[in-house]
Amino acid sequence: MTAYDNNNIFAKILRGELPCHKVYEDEHVLAFLDIMPRAPGHTLVIPKAAARNILDIKIEDYLHVARATHRIAAVVKKAFEADGVTVQQFNETAGGQVVFHLHVHVMPRHDGVALLPPASRKEDVKVLESNATKLAAVLKDASR
Ligand code: 5GP
Repeated sequence: MTAYDNNNIFAKILRGELPCHKVYEDEHVLAFLDIMPRAPGHTLVIPKAAARNILDIKIEDYLHVARATHRIAAVVKKAFEADGVTVQQFNETAGGQVVFHLHVHVMPRHDGVALLPPASRKEDVKVLESNATKLAAVLKDASR
């Protein structure tokens, strides 16, 4: 298997070298908005541990991602008044992976509304800011 590349985009986001619209962070994971959302509120959950994908991540690190994904799924559903949530995670090029730091897509879904194709368009920064604020507010409420 190809080795983990420290210079992938999400590693740079984790090191603060590139910006992101943060939704949630703890010592093990970071959740932030996808810049090319397939639905409004499309969030990515990533481990802080260096892992290329599900094929090399340590189970303990994966469990932190699973726990955060469980929480973020409920938060995106509430914040966007969604009817459902799609959770996806791709592994290696053949599996649909483009960025090689493990990430889970969490996308709020509404009845009858299709997802945009991957990487269709870069979202407006103001929209991302507003959606991140909306999600953080619901998360804060849920933590009380
Ligand atoms: P995957 O590797 O699972 O196919 O998808 C990678 C995802 O990362 C895509 O949904 C894409 O829109 C998102 N993405 C790519 N570059 C960036 C970036 O610089 N910032 C953020 N927030 N998302 C990104």
